[in-house]
Amino acid sequence: MKNSFDRESASLNWAKQKDQQDPLRSFRKKFHFPMQGSGQKQIYFAGHSLGLMPKKTEEYIQIELDSWKKYGVEGHFEGPHPWLPYHENITQSFARLVGAKSSEVVAMNTLTVNLHLAMVSFYRPTKKKYKIFIEQHAFPSDKYAVDSQARFHGYDHREAVVELKPQQPGLIFSEDDMIEQIDRLKDETALVMLGNCNYLSGQQFDLRKITEFAHQHGIMVGVNLAHGAGNLEMKLHDWNVDFAVWCSYKYLNSGPGGIAGCFIHERHHGMKDLPRFEGWWGQNKQTRFKMGPQFDPIPTVEAWQLSNPPIFQLAALRSSMELFDEASIGALRKKGDELTGYLAWIIESKFDGKVEIVNREVSRGSMLCLRFKTGQAQIGKLFRNHGVIVDFREPDIIRATPAPLYNSFEDVFLFSEVLSQVLGEK
Ligand SMILES: *Cc1c(COP(=O)(O)O)cnc(C)c1O
Repeated sequence: MKNSFDRESASLNWAKQKDQQDPLRSFRKKFHFPMQGSGQKQIYFAGHSLGLMPKKTEEYIQIELDSWKKYGVEGHFEGPHPWLPYHENITQSFARLVGAKSSEVVAMNTLTVNLHLAMVSFYRPTKKKYKIFIEQHAFPSDKYAVDSQARFHGYDHREAVVELKPQQPGLIFSEDDMIEQIDRLKDETALVMLGNCNYLSGQQFDLRKITEFAHQHGIMVGVNLAHGAGNLEMKLHDWNVDFAVWCSYKYLNSGPGGIAGCFIHERHHGMKDLPRFEGWWGQNKQTRFKMGPQFDPIPTVEAWQLSNPPIFQLAALRSSMELFDEASIGALRKKGDELTGYLAWIIESKFDGKVEIVNREVSRGSMLCLRFKTGQAQIGKLFRNHGVIVDFREPDIIRATPAPLYNSFEDVFLFSEVLSQVLGEK
């Protein structure tokens, strides 16, 4: 993003003024911030790892504890939000967030579980077509998941799982080159499984283009939105991806181990010959409690549900999704681009040459991937000592995310002050 910052922008006053003009400024007050020893709020730039707690969350969970106290098992039907259809409270919000129809999204399980469940249906290797593409430097769990799926079907994962590689050594991919790499093995490939942005570099991939190419060659496309959900704007339905999965404890602030999301494109709904692992929560709602022996799937993504879901986790997710609905992902992305643009600008103008912004020139969301040229081992700790929460990835990467729902321009400015101290410039 090209920015419109000038010398004046490198001041606390300027940052405070920007915050006053910010149409989303009221959301910051709706979150609990961990405190520094000095009694100041931490500068919390780790929303890509664990989002902060919305103040309403306690109340929303308490409501369900009260229902349990008051109604026992009848809480499935009684109380302000009966549990039986509780997950449906999330559906519209998820649909808006990822650009899907409401029949295509559901809140269930956790991310890696959903990834496996989706691959049961959409990784269907044949003798000739069995390879899975995944990006190099994918999140380890994703690699373990695809490797183990390949082995489950009797393949050697070292042969069946192919890593898409950046054109130049490093973390940044060229999209045309990604497609060329798939093209070379298209006849042997069954599935492409990518992040919609990579968890480490934050680079966003062109899913529409990749999916269009893959589908021309009979290849399924699955996407991990762990770093995209609540961060990037998406149109999963129009992009035609076959499935997507995401966790909700990062940008979506649903709390540790929060319940995950799953998207399955509607063209795969109601397919009788699609293999699927099944459980009673996927059963036709009219007959679920007749407890019959025959599975009759719900004709939507809900057919992939297995168990009755954890209501307290769903309550936490509901409280956060209300904030996303209120703010809207479009407005959040707009503010996010300004905040992250400001962060990038201030880093470049103050610390040129000392810190590389790995994802400066690529499409991305709110996260900056910073590579430190000196003092790497100390850096994570130094930031923390100064009340800044970022995360460190071996050997020299810091991921820093001003999340537009609760971070401010002032946070970005204060971050740059700490960065000066950390780099020993003061
Ligand atoms: C955070 C993250 C995960 C975590 O998986 P869980 O099943 O939620 O523990 C997986 N993949 C990616 C890309 C992630 O960023």
